[in-house]
Amino acid sequence: MAEKSFKYVIIGGGVSAGYAAREFANQGVKKGELAIITKEAVAPYERPALSKGYLFPEGAARLPGFHTCVGSGGEKLLPEWYAGKGITLFLSTDIVKADLASKTLVSAAGDTFKYESLIIATGSTVLRLTDFGVQGADSKNILYLREIDDADKLVETIKAKKNGKVVIVGGGYIGLELSAVMKLNNLDVTMVYPEPWCMPRLFTADIAAFYEEYYKNKGVKIIKGTVAVGFNSNDNGEVKEVKLKDGRVLEADIVVVGVGARPLTTLFKGQVEEDKGGIKADAFFKTSVANVYAVGDVATFPMKMYNDIRRVEHVDHARKSAEQAVKAIFASEQGKTIEEYDYLPMFYSRSFNLSWQFYGDNVGDAVIFGDNSPKSDNPKFGSYWIKDGKVVGAFLEGGSPDENKAIAKVARVQPAADSLDVLAKEGLAFASKI
Ligand SMILES: Cc1cc2nc3c(=O)[nH]c(=O)nc-3n(C[C@H](O)[C@H](O)[C@H](O)COP(=O)(O)OP(=O)(O)OC[C@H]3O[C@@H](n4cnc5c(N)ncnc54)[C@H](O)[C@@H]3O)c2cc1C
Repeated sequence: MAEKSFKYVIIGGGVSAGYAAREFANQGVKKGELAIITKEAVAPYERPALSKGYLFPEGAARLPGFHTCVGSGGEKLLPEWYAGKGITLFLSTDIVKADLASKTLVSAAGDTFKYESLIIATGSTVLRLTDFGVQGADSKNILYLREIDDADKLVETIKAKKNGKVVIVGGGYIGLELSAVMKLNNLDVTMVYPEPWCMPRLFTADIAAFYEEYYKNKGVKIIKGTVAVGFNSNDNGEVKEVKLKDGRVLEADIVVVGVGARPLTTLFKGQVEEDKGGIKADAFFKTSVANVYAVGDVATFPMKMYNDIRRVEHVDHARKSAEQAVKAIFASEQGKTIEEYDYLPMFYSRSFNLSWQFYGDNVGDAVIFGDNSPKSDNPKFGSYWIKDGKVVGAFLEGGSPDENKAIAKVARVQPAADSLDVLAKEGLAFASKI
């Protein structure tokens, strides 16, 4: 079996890998020095498109339209771009063994890859109901969404089950985005989740009430406070019914499960320090092993603003952490230093005609402002989170680019707030003053 050596290797070919590759090129990586090894069959792309434009019934997004780094307004890096820069892409290559001591990776096909510096960018994998032993969870047409192959399976199944019934298990951002796009595909959609409201990790009850009502007005049915405990299938092994813990049974031609993800760190277990479920990294994304970096979903890193250590599963951090790691690698080779990573958390989502952004920390007391009527033609509302007399987080639905910038600034600056009432009254005007 072949052995190949590179100065730099990135394991994983997702969002972080694409942004890292661009930064390597900016830093003047030489031809033949960098390889990206990924089990996906395509060059790095903007993963968030998979639960949005990729599933549209008309005018759907397709590669090469959403290769990185187009999602942040940058150049679309096509396979030819990598070839032109002398960056080797090993596609459809699953690394099954990593030995950090001997700086060696081994693929499922038995090929060996040697490196001087490694960037771990393996991202996350979905949690599967089969992992929890849910009865019938291995039936056909119970689907998940992480990679482009999963999205292709979803597209095929949507076509095969035209006007059918879909049950979405999970009320997080995957559940919300998929319910919306399934509805756009004219399917009969029911969402099921155990929490009292959707997206409870971020949304307050007030924020969630808007989205739940908006979705109901679009014809999405929502069942809260219970979970799927089993599935019945037909003679072909295709899912037909979802059994809920509260005794109800829902008909289903398709089930899409979005109940969370876990970082892919297994290959490195026992070889590198971990913290909070991820690979522990410093402000330059260096791990506890020399010349090994971890970025994106797998990295647990110092969140300077909050004097805390966190792991973040969002695309903005995947992009920025990758760029920081590559800058740090080149700086250390030149005996220079760069500034510490000082990340302001940023999450966003889009569904139907809605689009929200959130910046900062959702801790303390929250106050809602603006027009949050689900019947409104152009709803625009937001929320501030206040802790110890300071505004620490800000959410905005329907904001313009300038308005989103203004709420980002609030979360970064953390201005003092006199009272929740004043914030509720001033709304966006408060952000515009900062
Ligand atoms: C459907 C979907 C929608 C999303 N929407 C949003 C959104 O709207 N907003 C937001 O902020 N975030 C969103 N996210 C989250 C965001 O996409 C991730 O945080 C981001 O992709 C993380 O980047 P990453 O490079 O760490 O991992 P990934 O982009 O997941 O890339 C990891 C890569 O590593 C490869 N890999 C893993 N293990 C191996 C191995 N052993 N050998 C070879 N290759 C391997 C994988 O195949 C994959 O290509 C979404 C995620 C999904 C799945």
